[in-house]
Amino acid sequence: MGLEAKDIVVRFGGMTALDGVGFKMDSGEILGLIGPNGSGKTTLLNALSGVLAPSAGSFRLGERSWAKMAPRDAARIGIRRTFQNIRLFSDMTALETVEVAAAALGRGDRRKAALHALAELDFLEHLDRIALELPYGLQRRLEIARAIVGEIRFLLLDEPTAGLNHTESSALVDVVKRIRDERGCGIILVDHDLHVIMKSCDRIIVLNEGHLIAEGSPSEVRNDPEVIRAYLG
Ligand code: ADP
Ligand code: MG
Repeated sequence: MGLEAKDIVVRFGGMTALDGVGFKMDSGEILGLIGPNGSGKTTLLNALSGVLAPSAGSFRLGERSWAKMAPRDAARIGIRRTFQNIRLFSDMTALETVEVAAAALGRGDRRKAALHALAELDFLEHLDRIALELPYGLQRRLEIARAIVGEIRFLLLDEPTAGLNHTESSALVDVVKRIRDERGCGIILVDHDLHVIMKSCDRIIVLNEGHLIAEGSPSEVRNDPEVIRAYLG
């Protein structure tokens, strides 16, 4: 099932963070979203996941289209995300953290759904550890486990490898691809590490100052003069 964003505009006061951004993607596709700091990447994920309402434009998933949707409803139709800054609850274990997310989706089988998601992140040996006491790399993984609990269609990952070392980040790339393969979901990956992007993405879109300036395969985007000028150069 395809996901589409049409002419999305987001304004903060007098400042236009997204100025008519549109793209389409399919299930099973890993789409890279890159661009300089402040270009609107997180804002686009926020609009798509219902965290903020666009000033104009609309989204479509299969037959359903909408301009704004509550985050909980977006999660229920299978649009899930992680945040650029880790957001874990203070004193819960890893298992409880994911169970709470399953419960919020209204699932009766929350333990089973949580264990399934945690297994996909190779997290079963850490179930009883307090989330906030986990090493940083494991906190990042736990956030992804929480995001993929239950049935997902599109997963939005906002800089999931930020702060990870090289080994951790290539392991995370493998996990992201495995989720795509096993779930058949689409994934939008925002990352500043171009190795991560080039290695994992089928297609890439590039934002600059709220405008979509390029779209294509990793090699097309890497060689695009405007992308080189705005971001890669
Ligand atoms: P990126 O994720 O690409 O670094 P953001 O989407 O976070 O960029 O930000 C895009 C622009 O919108 C930036 O200029 C940022 O300062 C501004 N911005 C983002 N969120 C808000 C907000 N809640 N209020 C006001 N300005 C915001
Ligand atoms: Mg951001």
